[in-house]
Amino acid sequence: MEKIKVLFKGQEYEFPKGITIGEIFEKLNIKGAIGAVVKPLEETKEEKPKEELLSDSKASESGIYDVHTPLTYSAEIKPIYKGSKEGLEIMRHTLAHILAQALSEIYGRKNVHLGIGPTTENGFFYDVEVEGVHLKEEDLPKIEEKMREIVKRDLPIERIELSREEAKKLFSELGEKYKLQIIDRIPEGEPITIYKQGDFVDLCRGPHLPSTGKAGEFKLSHIAGAYWMGRSDQPMLQRIYGVAFWTKKDLKNYLNFLEEVKKRDHRKLGKELEFFTIDQNIGAGLILWLPRGALYRKLLEDFLRDEHYKRGYQFVYTPHVGKSVLWETSGHLEFYKENMFPPMEMDNETYYVKPMNCPFHIAIYKSKVRSYKELPLRFFELGTVYRYELSGVLHGLLRVRGFTQDDAHIICTEEQVNDEIKGALQFALDILKVFGFDEYKIYISTRPEKSVGSDRQWEVATNALIKAVEDLGLDYEYDEGGGAFYGPKIDIKVKDAIGRFWQLSTIQFDFNLPERFDMTYIGPDNKPHRPYMVHRAVLGSIERFTGVLLEHTAGLLPLWIAPTQVVVLPIADRHNEYAKKVAETLKREGFRVEIDLSEESLGAKIRKAELLKIPYMVVVGDKEMENNTVSVRGKKEGKNLGTMTVDEFVEFLKKRIEEEKGNVVEPKK
Ligand SMILES: [Zn+2]
Ligand SMILES: [Zn+2]
Repeated sequence: MEKIKVLFKGQEYEFPKGITIGEIFEKLNIKGAIGAVVKPLEETKEEKPKEELLSDSKASESGIYDVHTPLTYSAEIKPIYKGSKEGLEIMRHTLAHILAQALSEIYGRKNVHLGIGPTTENGFFYDVEVEGVHLKEEDLPKIEEKMREIVKRDLPIERIELSREEAKKLFSELGEKYKLQIIDRIPEGEPITIYKQGDFVDLCRGPHLPSTGKAGEFKLSHIAGAYWMGRSDQPMLQRIYGVAFWTKKDLKNYLNFLEEVKKRDHRKLGKELEFFTIDQNIGAGLILWLPRGALYRKLLEDFLRDEHYKRGYQFVYTPHVGKSVLWETSGHLEFYKENMFPPMEMDNETYYVKPMNCPFHIAIYKSKVRSYKELPLRFFELGTVYRYELSGVLHGLLRVRGFTQDDAHIICTEEQVNDEIKGALQFALDILKVFGFDEYKIYISTRPEKSVGSDRQWEVATNALIKAVEDLGLDYEYDEGGGAFYGPKIDIKVKDAIGRFWQLSTIQFDFNLPERFDMTYIGPDNKPHRPYMVHRAVLGSIERFTGVLLEHTAGLLPLWIAPTQVVVLPIADRHNEYAKKVAETLKREGFRVEIDLSEESLGAKIRKAELLKIPYMVVVGDKEMENNTVSVRGKKEGKNLGTMTVDEFVEFLKKRIEEEKGNVVEPKK
């Protein structure tokens, strides 16, 4: 009989080929393992089975196998136990089958047609069609209960290899039309395996737990529609999602996180705060800014312009469309066309709406002869661009088709590149800090597949970025292949209040466009030279940044940028005049103030202000009127701040803003 070598804890053992991992555990007296990390020994690597086919589990890619799997090649094995990170994959995938079994017990095996049931980052899902039933969220508790019952039964799980004919016969008897299609996609010669738990069988490659009782803590979270094979010409199945962890505590933490995510959804907040809307008659992914959102945006833009001006940037404005020759020269039509809106014809010319501002800024640079004495030149524009995104990925403000970048192009000499990149990077970090983003990760994105330039150019440019990051003493990681088509970049991903990372700032080194557009400057030698170009955006886009900021702050914007900073609430009609006087004083001091003179009760007025997340509510009644005071409620503080005179309140507000903006670092001269 053929033998294989198994390496365990540095010891080598010999077993017959095809022995299951569970049997190896038994022989080696390894107890309680639910699977193994399998690493083929070097000399037998080529025998490793192909895994990408029919793989509805990510586990097989990472070399995680269950105890049922026969080992057909020499390998090193590391047992996986309950509670381990590697074991999550096995457990979550098993739960997908337990879900399928629960459905078949509730609705009848023949009525349940199964698609695929892989794991997700925090759980699992199964795509299903239940004959004559449209599952709803209300059905989930009942299904979950059945799943718990199956876990309790602690059914042993078996792996069985079938011939193609046997598999086809079995799954046509079960009415599993989707599984039959999967069987047809398995190439000849590949093993066809089913897993059996109790009397429930399912086509699968694993990995699975030794028995259903070893499953961890789980919850079915929601249902969504999903096309079979992800294709819109195929039937729409129902995707049932679940989350699963080893411990109750981990599950609870994750469910709390999901609650937080829901609460912070910027689409919900954007509506409540009256910030923005999207109108299908205007188009998907195109944002309409409502007055409150527009006022916030105005404050944001003013702030950005001021900060850029301080740092030696010059303002420019450019149109939204440009002729095709521009995009041919830039390389966009060759490398970026699928991201662009389709062309427009006019006067026998072809125009495109801009996906980027760069060629326009280059045209401004080229509008006159430039001398080395002018460099570095830093052109800044809040430039609105349009990019084609698949309708399925559009998401509130975060993924849109039209957006305004806080875009700048720095044109400089080779000697100036390092300082300019460092300056741009420091600038970005300083600005992000003002919004409370003081934790971040820096990525250096390297050459993508579709790109221009020589390897040598990419190397020089990438090293320039690395040097700038290192000069500032910052840590970084690589994002291999994540660069722009014209050069490598530095990306900054900020961490939000609940631990999620969002990409905002980007600094890109470009050795390509200066060449393509034949940009030159006259050097001290009176000869033309090629400048370098840096593209950079601090917030990325106003839209995306706003989405992220809303989620980060849960809508409680910093006082300095809140569209309405204070709302004055008179308790009764007789306090209206005094309320107006208070509002006037605050406005004179430069604050953005509203006054609610509606007939509604104080409670209703407070609820309205709460929903708008106005930072301060000022309540005025008899006592306040008599003593010339205001009673202040702080939204962020989450409590009554007591009574103060109007002057004291003005001082209080000024101090708050100073604290917030105190983070703005003045640029080095
Ligand atoms: Zn499976
Ligand atoms: Zn650019």
